[in-house]
Amino acid sequence: MSAPLTVLVTGASAGIGAATARAFAAKGDRVILSARSAHRLRDLEAEIDGDTFVLPLDVTDAQAHLDALGWLPAEWRDLDVAVLNAGLALGLVPVWENTVDHVDRMLDTNVKGVVNGLRAIVPGMLDRGRGHVIGIGSTASHTVYPGGVVYCASKHALLALMNGLKVDLHGTPVRVSTVSPGMVETEFSRVRFEGDAARADAVYSDTVALTAEDVADAVVYCAHAPERVNVQELLLTPRVQSGYTMIARGDDVP
Ligand code: NAP
Repeated sequence: MSAPLTVLVTGASAGIGAATARAFAAKGDRVILSARSAHRLRDLEAEIDGDTFVLPLDVTDAQAHLDALGWLPAEWRDLDVAVLNAGLALGLVPVWENTVDHVDRMLDTNVKGVVNGLRAIVPGMLDRGRGHVIGIGSTASHTVYPGGVVYCASKHALLALMNGLKVDLHGTPVRVSTVSPGMVETEFSRVRFEGDAARADAVYSDTVALTAEDVADAVVYCAHAPERVNVQELLLTPRVQSGYTMIARGDDVP
């Protein structure tokens, strides 16, 4: 059996990140649980039967990112895998109607937050001569849909950052992957609609979305692929989703 990986998961307090942390721990890997909500991370740590470390961090804070990773205890510092998953969508309006606050928070989290992570993480991976960065993209990395244009732009940028990182790392052993899911039932829509549960639930009603665990399986697959393999991008949708934005519902679900 191979040695356990040391894995950082951002956005581990909910949804895909929490499922990813659980999935790595179930493989016997060591997981750093990171997000803003420290109490939710501690709850997850208590639930996971494995080796975990709680790292509260707002990914939009570039200096806090460097500090938090720099202050990790020595036994947690040598990251093998970083899953840059923290992200969000806010609102569903034509692009010109977005509030400044929504635009800032989406771009600061989904784009600048990822660059902040790369600045803090990649130099150590290069020094150690090993590592793997896994970004969480989206079908929104490939298309646009009405009302979600700023979010889609941020996810296009995420994919460009990951593909560009692979190019910048050419000739090094550090691997780069993007896992790009379609619709996944998590807290994502509750965040987008700022707590409007009925509106959020309607997104997932009468259809069969991916689960956070489905995406976590894909992430773990990328990380545990043989060293010679680099999964560049893994695009997965629910069976009922076609062509990025077509989602079958009700009697149309095959
Ligand atoms: P979620 O359930 O709302 O989880 C989002 C996570 O991101 C939470 O743990 C949240 O934790 C964290 N987060 C948000 N802002 C942060 C910040 N500034 N600093 C640190 N952590 C932050 O949503 P999800 O569906 O799991 O989303 C995870 C990723 O998957 C996102 O990048 C999203 O774009 C992507 N994605 C989702 C879907 C979908 O349909 N659900 C589809 C494709 C891609 P705190 O609030 O505690 O910080």
